[in-house]
Amino acid sequence: MIKLAHPIVEEDEQQAVLEALRSGQLAQGPRVAAFERAFAEYVGVPHAVAVNSGTAALHTALLAHDIGSMSSGGDAGDEVIVPAFSFAATANTVLQAGARPAFVDIRDRDFNIDTESLASAITPRTRAIVGVHLYGQVCDAPTIRALCDKYGLIFVEDAAQAVGGSLRGHNAGSIGTGCFSFYATKNLTTGEGGMITTNDAVVAERARAIRSQGERTRYVTEELGWNYRMTEPAAALGLAQLAKLDARNRRRRENAARLNELLAGNDRIVTPNETPGQVHAWHQYTIRVKAGREARDRLQSALHDRGIESVVFYPAPIHQQPLYRRLGYGDLELPVATRLAEEVLSLPIHPALSGNDLLAVADAVNSVTAPNN
Ligand SMILES: *Cc1c(COP(=O)(O)O)cnc(C)c1O
Repeated sequence: MIKLAHPIVEEDEQQAVLEALRSGQLAQGPRVAAFERAFAEYVGVPHAVAVNSGTAALHTALLAHDIGSMSSGGDAGDEVIVPAFSFAATANTVLQAGARPAFVDIRDRDFNIDTESLASAITPRTRAIVGVHLYGQVCDAPTIRALCDKYGLIFVEDAAQAVGGSLRGHNAGSIGTGCFSFYATKNLTTGEGGMITTNDAVVAERARAIRSQGERTRYVTEELGWNYRMTEPAAALGLAQLAKLDARNRRRRENAARLNELLAGNDRIVTPNETPGQVHAWHQYTIRVKAGREARDRLQSALHDRGIESVVFYPAPIHQQPLYRRLGYGDLELPVATRLAEEVLSLPIHPALSGNDLLAVADAVNSVTAPNN
């Protein structure tokens, strides 16, 4: 089976984890601090705060900005604008903070938030905009930043899929408050893990308290906090993975270019591309099957029969998920998100693929979608 994702943990990375296990300190300690410093430097911001998932990073970032009724000072009724086409955590964490998500549509050229629809989505209750860098391509963060500055809003970047990506020289996670995930299939993994990046020392300091029971001094609970701390073995793996990230992302980029070349003549599908100014992190290589859901699902099962795994990220926009329907979002009209959920299919591009694997993937896609098939 050619898998969609294949976490790579080489000998030296395994060694780093073993050293952490033997060090006598398993919970948050010096390796977490070292990973934070290295990650902040990589992204190009002064502060990084490690947590134990990307979900924890998003939740903590919202709370550290005082958004939602779960933070000590926030007002109930806070709204946070999120794109409807993303992983559920993008919106779930808004609910977890005690705020309401306001869903907006995406644009089909890069699957990211449609900045044209933002201004009309802003209400007096809006506190923040979450921009997602879907599949590894940075959303129009400079435009969102400008809008946030104009309306006094917080900009949170859901950079879970975009570690190593950038737009016009701005690294993912350096324009707003960055939230990263180090889940097993992400470009950099610690098994489970996450990171918040920020230019704001106050936000960083508050995030550190929130990840650890709201304590600034041991056993003095100043505000509501959680246990979102990262472990030492996880941080050791993260540090070792960071050293190899650029090389692995280059492999993803080469694999994406190769697939684009092999699929170039296929007019049944739309292949993904970098929009101008982007360095795409190529977390996913996502094609669109123009004929829609039925043809897409047929392609996916035919690929499976040929030993190729593919995944639909995501089969439905978030506002159409059962929870969000119950909360009253089901009737929202977000046509691009709804259509793309029927067309998208992510193919393998991970760094461990061989040239033959890529050929097999492209051959299978081309033969299954051929007009006489
Ligand atoms: C992976 C992911 C998250 C959540 O990260 P976890 O580490 O799984 O909690 C959030 N948003 C997006 C877009 C993701 O891909």
